[in-house]
Amino acid sequence: MRFILAILFIASLTLTSCKNTASPIATDTIVKQKPSGYQGQQPSPIVPTVNKPVQKQWKGIWSFNDNTTFFTNDFDGARLNGVADDGNDHYTIWITAENTPINVSPWYAFKVWTENPRKITIKLSYQDSRSRYYPKISADGIHFKTIDSIAYKPINPGEGDFGIKAAPEFVELTLEIKNEPIWVTAQELYTSKRVKSWVDSLSVKPFVSNYEIGKTTEERSMQLMEIKGNSTAKKALMIISRQHPPEVTGFIAMKSFIETLAGESEQAKKFRESHTIFAVPLMNPDGVDNGHWRHNMGGIDLNRDWQNFNQPETKSVRDFLTKKGSEGYEFVFGADFHSTWDDIYYPLDTTVTGQKGKIVFDWIESISDRLPQKKSNVKASDKLDPTMVSRTYFYVKHKMPAIVFELGDDTPRPFLKEKGKVAAEELMRLLDSD
Ligand SMILES: [Zn+2]
Repeated sequence: MRFILAILFIASLTLTSCKNTASPIATDTIVKQKPSGYQGQQPSPIVPTVNKPVQKQWKGIWSFNDNTTFFTNDFDGARLNGVADDGNDHYTIWITAENTPINVSPWYAFKVWTENPRKITIKLSYQDSRSRYYPKISADGIHFKTIDSIAYKPINPGEGDFGIKAAPEFVELTLEIKNEPIWVTAQELYTSKRVKSWVDSLSVKPFVSNYEIGKTTEERSMQLMEIKGNSTAKKALMIISRQHPPEVTGFIAMKSFIETLAGESEQAKKFRESHTIFAVPLMNPDGVDNGHWRHNMGGIDLNRDWQNFNQPETKSVRDFLTKKGSEGYEFVFGADFHSTWDDIYYPLDTTVTGQKGKIVFDWIESISDRLPQKKSNVKASDKLDPTMVSRTYFYVKHKMPAIVFELGDDTPRPFLKEKGKVAAEELMRLLDSD
């Protein structure tokens, strides 16, 4: 039995201001990457990280056209807050954030199908945000492709030349819908279940294991993956990703990075003789499964909580690192994978880390030498206090050279995988030649 309900959200839509003053620009500039234009974000302001209220989504099925056309958000990772039938097979979708203020990363994911195959147009509109993510579609929720450019129409293009200011205010998608649902999503869907099945698939190797290091507010498991080829290997790496739910491209690069470290190459086997790798591939499972734009169920940006540790996700990693430190592990490298407008590295400056931190810069240089087709900017930070973000905490508390490794939202997926692999190979080379 399906619970069928239609909700019209026309009133809410009027909350979005319609600015029609932008001068038109060529549509292909909306999604085109600037090869090295992204100069990075400003240092993060200090923000409190005690719990704030979060708005849960109403979950269910929207039904239109005499119960023949359906939309749903009733699956993990979905985000769809309202649908309006505008007539003539045109629908407007409303996407809101879990709470505000929030970073402009408007995640969306829903399914649509019909009993009478037809062509429909869907307008995506957002709470206080322009349209950041170029839509992906899938027939099975596993394999995604970007929507064909002729089915994608930006509305009210941005006036800026980069980032959210260059993004259109709305977009319209034209879809051929059929009996079988199609998924429409901001990025590929990697829910906690899918990440766990990847972790389990790697854990069939005798030197890979995984275990829980804590629980989230909604009782999801904080999964730690341990890659350990030798019980006496006390040099350690700490790798994390997905503090921010929509940052799937960072996750894809991290996945390839971990697979390379856990691979069967002679280099990887030798590396594991002396190094143990710890990884938390999904730092924010509540946020991911609830389709959040940025925060966890405490309504907090986890990557501002590495000073005060008010949130269960950051606490679990803090306590894990403390435990491993007391067991005699020496952390020699840390990385936190994210996504943003373009590939960029945020290391700590050697003016504060000295000789110890130099390996991070040698590593960036050797990755760039091997991947000359896409140059990434480097923006080093010389602030160690407050720790607040994971990278700084990793260095200050555990003396590990560490980096925020950012991949572009639209960086081609084969390149993400190649970059993750090359990054792992160059890191093993540098750490083994120490
Ligand atoms: Zn991020």
